[in-house]
Amino acid sequence: MSSPGDGDGKRLEGPPEGPRDFIRAIVERDLKAGAHRSVVTRFPPEPNGYLHIGHAKSICLNFGIAKEFGGRCHLRFDDTNPSKEEQEYVDSIQADVRWLGWDWGGHLYFASNYFQQLFEWALHLVKTGKAYVCDLPADEVRRYRGTLREPGRESPYRNRSVEENLDLFLRMKAGEFADGSRTLRAKIDMAHPNLNMRDPVLYRILHAEHHRTGDAWCIYPMYDFAHGQCDAIEGVTHSVCTLEFEDHRPLYDWFIENLPVPHKPHQYEFARLNLTYTVLSKRKLLDLVNKGYVSGWDDPRMPTLAGLRRRGYTPEAIRAFCDRIGVAKSNSTVEVETLEGCLREDLNKTALRRMAVLRPLRVVITNYPEGKAEELEVPNNPEDPRAGSRAVPFSRALYIERDDFREDPPKKFFRLAPGREVRLRAAYFITCQEVVKDETTGEVVELRCTYDPETRGGSAPDGRSPKATLHWVSALHAVDAEVRLYDRLFTKANPDDFPEGEDYRANLNPASLVVVPAAKLEPALAFVRPGDRVQFERLGYFCADPDSAQAHPVFNRTVTLRDTWAKIEAAQANR
Ligand code: ATP
Ligand code: MG
Repeated sequence: MSSPGDGDGKRLEGPPEGPRDFIRAIVERDLKAGAHRSVVTRFPPEPNGYLHIGHAKSICLNFGIAKEFGGRCHLRFDDTNPSKEEQEYVDSIQADVRWLGWDWGGHLYFASNYFQQLFEWALHLVKTGKAYVCDLPADEVRRYRGTLREPGRESPYRNRSVEENLDLFLRMKAGEFADGSRTLRAKIDMAHPNLNMRDPVLYRILHAEHHRTGDAWCIYPMYDFAHGQCDAIEGVTHSVCTLEFEDHRPLYDWFIENLPVPHKPHQYEFARLNLTYTVLSKRKLLDLVNKGYVSGWDDPRMPTLAGLRRRGYTPEAIRAFCDRIGVAKSNSTVEVETLEGCLREDLNKTALRRMAVLRPLRVVITNYPEGKAEELEVPNNPEDPRAGSRAVPFSRALYIERDDFREDPPKKFFRLAPGREVRLRAAYFITCQEVVKDETTGEVVELRCTYDPETRGGSAPDGRSPKATLHWVSALHAVDAEVRLYDRLFTKANPDDFPEGEDYRANLNPASLVVVPAAKLEPALAFVRPGDRVQFERLGYFCADPDSAQAHPVFNRTVTLRDTWAKIEAAQANR
């Protein structure tokens, strides 16, 4: 994050001291004022999909506040909609929150744990004349609701007696009525300027199997009726959610005021994360999975935490990203480069350097003895001396990257060409003497080169220095691997900017995955474990995929190196 004028290394945004954002400022103020003994937050996912990078922002905020202020953060599944929820999602969400580095301790909850209490509170509203059973079907409820400009109309069932409402609501619960035939609604104000206050639905009838309560219930509370009351039951002090709930806050408060809750939580809203070249709507992500545009929720192109993990993202990088983007009160879009930048910063410090050749071109060193092999010590990470070094075998036949040779080099091409000398990384200088081609296709199939034995380790006694340093792998010792080159899933910064008559899928990137079936790796990579992250020198950061089999690794490209070829070459030439 350093830039000119940022010499003291402090964060650019926000003051150097004091709370980092307005939510933390509120928490600090409330704690100082003694409004709460300690802070209690919650992260409330609905188990209807996998968590994505947007959820990470919310997780880091809620768990981060709890940690910084010595409070606690609950993981609460908002499982009030049985039709879309599944155990698979519950399991993946817990795994992902843990992977991100957070811990809810013993505070794992489900909104469905509170169904009985919520039902009793609904009864309370019925008995106090603040809720009624409405027989309008869903589309009529919508029509009666009015618009932002026009007030709504009162339901013809609004003035039922308490006795009749009680009777009907109990019979709704007992399963007497069909799905959608009746709802329980709050009796607030059909002319309220806020549409959420126009007699919102509290309960609907749904004869569906719930992933936790089975068929115990056939009426289910709506999100608005459940959320704040769950917060109240759990003693949540600061209920932090995204801005689209701002208009729901008056309703949140209305329930808390009108119910005998044990505790009064408050809702605060912050801006959700939007990222360029990325969709974060669960509906769209589900669509991509179900329609086979990606291989699953953990496809390395998905912005899900499972996908990012498989791609090679570290939890540290994601947390650093969440810190860096901060928390604001107005919506905006963050550039995906910011996320990639946080990743590179982390991997640059931690990833071991290895050599891998993606598109191999055979090189034979004609003056190197046949049958000889030697080992060169190469540092594992020049950024971290503690990472040590490893032995890399060198022999007469090698592979270099096809792109690193040109028969007719253009002006600024400093890599290998006929008659030219280059440095092989940590090995020797070689000079291309002869180009061998396939007789029929004319394709270059082999380079015959000579090496200078005086340049072992990469420097010449006479001080000469080639302009380019290439990575290489000894042919005899090479390990075959599949390498999956991932790129952005969408070609447009805003995937929702699509031609008329199409949808966001029109912007899918057809080249988001390119498979390299036969890459050559240095032997240190033979026995990787899934999840191992390395830098392939000059190519980028890569992560071993769970598809890796013994002695046949599969690597995912996590992210390319930021630097251009030119810059890397210059740096290596100066080494
Ligand atoms: P749905 O449309 O299914 O409600 P959702 O993305 O809101 O999708 P939830 O499971 O309800 O999914 O989200 C859990 C929490 O994560 C909520 O508090 C929500 O506000 C927050 N959240 C979701 N998306 C983002 C995002 N893009 N940025 C920040 N927070 C988010
Ligand atoms: Mg939601």
